[in-house]
Amino acid sequence: MTQIAPGVYSLRQNTGGHVHAFLLDDGSGSLTLVDTLFDTDAHRVLDQIEGIGHTPGDLDHIVLTHAHRSHLGGLATLKRLSGATVHAHEWEADIIAGERPAQRVTIIPMRPLATYWRVYYLQFGAALGRGKHPPCPVDSFAKDGDEIGPVRVLHTPGHTPGHLAFWWEDRRLLIAGDALATYPVFEAGWPAFNLNPTQQRASVRRMAGLEPEVLAVGHGEPITGGASERLRSLANSG
Ligand SMILES: [Zn+2]
Ligand SMILES: [Zn+2]
Repeated sequence: MTQIAPGVYSLRQNTGGHVHAFLLDDGSGSLTLVDTLFDTDAHRVLDQIEGIGHTPGDLDHIVLTHAHRSHLGGLATLKRLSGATVHAHEWEADIIAGERPAQRVTIIPMRPLATYWRVYYLQFGAALGRGKHPPCPVDSFAKDGDEIGPVRVLHTPGHTPGHLAFWWEDRRLLIAGDALATYPVFEAGWPAFNLNPTQQRASVRRMAGLEPEVLAVGHGEPITGGASERLRSLANSG
């Protein structure tokens, strides 16, 4: 178990491009989960809930950054076992429910190849529209400024139109989803996956303005201290 800030647990798996999900425990007895990893049986998330002395029934909110396969694997299982309310941006909701395919990305490999060959299999799948997740209805449309569990919702479009990030003010924790990545390198999202680069740059600048201490991302390890500095230089370089 990896606790990256008080009550903030980082969950990872290698499949899905070192994908991460985050379990949040604010001490109220209610848990909030951000994204659901790649595996459809959700065993890593369920083990973590048990590992901190809770049961799946304590999971009240599942919030989703966006509707890409790597982040939705365990969703249907977790919803069934926990009865949690599933929150996502309205634009992503029908993809999550299995009613619309995810928007395709380019098949042209990202450069430099030496960096991005490791995740090309995911780009290839997304370019061909492969890789379906077990569908799950969304219960609640999350929008900018909403408070869900301990976090505030930030609409951060660019990677996808309905991409969300989450800000836990007390912890100075930013969960940036795929708007930022630390695998294979620290980057403003995987370039080929960013559907709207202009929106994406604006979202990164907005997130940098929060000056987070801890930065959690969808792919790669979290930055557990001094995130603000690194994020600011990334925002300024774009
Ligand atoms: Zn994505
Ligand atoms: Zn992703």
